[in-house]
Amino acid sequence: MGTFSLDPGADQLAVRDWLHGFAADVMRPAAAEWDEREETPWPIIQEAARLGVYSPDFYAQQYFDPSGVGIPIAMEELFWGDAGIGLAIVGTTLAAVAVLANGTDEQIGTWAPQMFGTPGDVKVAAFCSSEPDAGSDVSALRTRAVYDEAKDEWVLNGTKTWATNGGIAAVHVVVATVDPRLGARGQASFVVPPGTPGLSQGQKFKKHGIRASHTAEVVLDGVRVPGHCLLGGREKLTERLARAREGARKGGGRGNAAMATFEASRPAVGAQAIGIARAAYEVALDYAKTRVQFGRPIIDNQGVAFQLADMRTRIDASRLLVWRASWMAATNQPFTSAEGSMSKLYAGETAKWVTAQAMQILGGNGFTREYPVERMHRDSAIYSIFEGTSEIQRLVIARAISGLPIR
Ligand SMILES: Cc1cc2nc3c(=O)[nH]c(=O)nc-3n(C[C@H](O)[C@H](O)[C@H](O)COP(=O)(O)OP(=O)(O)OC[C@H]3O[C@@H](n4cnc5c(N)ncnc54)[C@H](O)[C@@H]3O)c2cc1C
Repeated sequence: MGTFSLDPGADQLAVRDWLHGFAADVMRPAAAEWDEREETPWPIIQEAARLGVYSPDFYAQQYFDPSGVGIPIAMEELFWGDAGIGLAIVGTTLAAVAVLANGTDEQIGTWAPQMFGTPGDVKVAAFCSSEPDAGSDVSALRTRAVYDEAKDEWVLNGTKTWATNGGIAAVHVVVATVDPRLGARGQASFVVPPGTPGLSQGQKFKKHGIRASHTAEVVLDGVRVPGHCLLGGREKLTERLARAREGARKGGGRGNAAMATFEASRPAVGAQAIGIARAAYEVALDYAKTRVQFGRPIIDNQGVAFQLADMRTRIDASRLLVWRASWMAATNQPFTSAEGSMSKLYAGETAKWVTAQAMQILGGNGFTREYPVERMHRDSAIYSIFEGTSEIQRLVIARAISGLPIR
């Protein structure tokens, strides 16, 4: 087991500084514009690809960093730059991680490069799990995958919603039900290759925050994908379904494998929230030191100074939780108290709270689009909703610490 350390080491610090430069010089100046346009910032993604910030190799390097902090450091810096553009850049990794977690080596080798494209021809990817009637309750998916043995093809039918990059992606990863009687354990993930007929974009959502990130419905109407697009392969699925049927007969619950994957991916989302919170805190701290009222900087009032003290304390506490959980994932430790969910819960709620305090410290200016905290506050709101709402994180933690099937 690797030792937990708060010193990321020279390599990680160099990556952090490099990403910080990109966030400050490329993302920040473009943030307000793309928030207003509510469009995918292709030129920024292209620039990220040109510089190596957007490539499968870069994320693989961070993902496999043995200390576990590669991904949290990268996420925090990019989202410090801007959350909407940040998500437009890293949205592809949601789909990439699904392939990494469930795919064979061959599938990873085939699909990861196609998800990102090349610096000269940049692509994005989408992960499509949520449906209109299956959000928090992922066991309720209605999208069906039926195997056509004669053609060795899977046929997908259903409607996905809330898909980041849905419809504009080159590669879509779709979670579908193979055996509806088994709930979440009867599901499998499929790659839908670029240009596959039957897949189309439904409505694109107009959002409160992270508006540079494209979010849309994805309609699957008789989508046929080759047998090799089933992530993990048919043999593994057959074995898994047999185990699930056996478990269901014995009254067993949901597999631990899916939970372990969630626990391992949630700290990365928590790190994004920390980036937003840190950015808003820095603006508020600067403002409090320079804004003069009643003949002195407003930070001279304990009411303001203590707010900043609490903001900084919660940000640092969030980072400690995120790094702990990321280190646990990297060193394959069991999340006995749902430490991954804890980190996402706390960091997400912290981002919402810190950005609200920042707006208050900026007074009227905080309420306008002349200052970035208004946007950061809107962006932070998603962090108690996606990748499992705060309530679902609490549910998972409550079950883990009690061992009870709390509903
Ligand atoms: C901008 C954006 C991007 C997204 N990107 C993706 C993506 O790329 N891919 C993807 O598959 N999905 C994506 N999602 C979907 C996201 O994960 C879901 O919105 C989220 O899981 C919540 O599901 P829901 O919206 O259906 O809410 P619901 O599940 O309907 O929940 C509504 C409310 O009820 C509460 N609630 C539900 N069940 C319980 C319970 N048992 N106990 C207590 N409270 C409960 C929830 O916490 C919430 O407050 C995205 C969503 C958004 C908004």
